[in-house]
Amino acid sequence: MSCGRKPRRSASPEPAARRRAGPGGYRVGTSSVRLAPVPELPEVEALASFLRGRAVGRVVARVDVASIAVLKTYDPPVTSLMGLTVTGATRHGKFLDLDVDGLHLVVHLARAGWLRWSDALPTAPVKPGKSPIALRVHLDDGSGFTLTEQGTQKKLAVYVVRDPAEVPGVARLGPDPLAASFTPATLAAILADHPRQQLKGVLRDQSVVAGIGNAYSDEILHVARVSPFKPAGSLTAAEVGVLHAAIRSTLEDAVARSEGLAAADLKSEKKSGLRVHGRAGLPCPVCGDTVREVSFADSALQYCPTCQTGGKPLADRRLSRLLR
Ligand SMILES: [Zn+2]
Repeated sequence: MSCGRKPRRSASPEPAARRRAGPGGYRVGTSSVRLAPVPELPEVEALASFLRGRAVGRVVARVDVASIAVLKTYDPPVTSLMGLTVTGATRHGKFLDLDVDGLHLVVHLARAGWLRWSDALPTAPVKPGKSPIALRVHLDDGSGFTLTEQGTQKKLAVYVVRDPAEVPGVARLGPDPLAASFTPATLAAILADHPRQQLKGVLRDQSVVAGIGNAYSDEILHVARVSPFKPAGSLTAAEVGVLHAAIRSTLEDAVARSEGLAAADLKSEKKSGLRVHGRAGLPCPVCGDTVREVSFADSALQYCPTCQTGGKPLADRRLSRLLR
């Protein structure tokens, strides 16, 4: 999965000044892949909200499929959306769900996928293969959206189904952390089910809690002032309450910041709102300590030692292996 990718910089960060020099402060050198914001619950919620305002009520005029590989279903065919009215847009975890008069266009943007809205889409057919464009939905007023995928991962997935639960990734989702039914007791039960697993991994597991990925799990654990490596079963009832509140406040704040933003602006808003994720080497906004990171084969986590681990840096196995 990670073959062909460059080895990652580890806990020795680039000078802060160089990092800050990049557009948005993050996309510098080898860091750009890791630090490009990946859509998680708040961004997908914002996209759904944006589409509720712009696409609902419009009729699907045409769907161009430029990359057949992204289309994971064939029945009903994607052409069956044509002539039907968009009646809703919602979210399941990190899946975007466009309700087209009872049929559902379900999209998983994954790591490098994105949705671009246009008030006036180009009408020429999309040429397959040559661009990041994977699929384009034309609406009856000339507006519409394009699903794109940058890079080589090719994980963007599009489904046309009669029921969103027909999408395996949707059917597997755990409870939604913003649902009213997601209480501290719900979280306590989840943690008790995975007592030895580290909190970071539990929060990111879509079948355990829906919608939280690498970035917001870093943010939530920083707000809760707890180590990403702490075993899920070791939290006291009070700590579970703090973690629950951190999940809610972090995601709700991110959704609120994204509300009303055009789809094009969501990525930069996500970057500017983060406290520790993608900020290794920069000062913690709470205490001023230097944000550190732990690298893995295909990802990295960031945390603040003073806020989260009693001032002790976490072991970075990758780095120690390299130094040995
Ligand atoms: Zn701190």
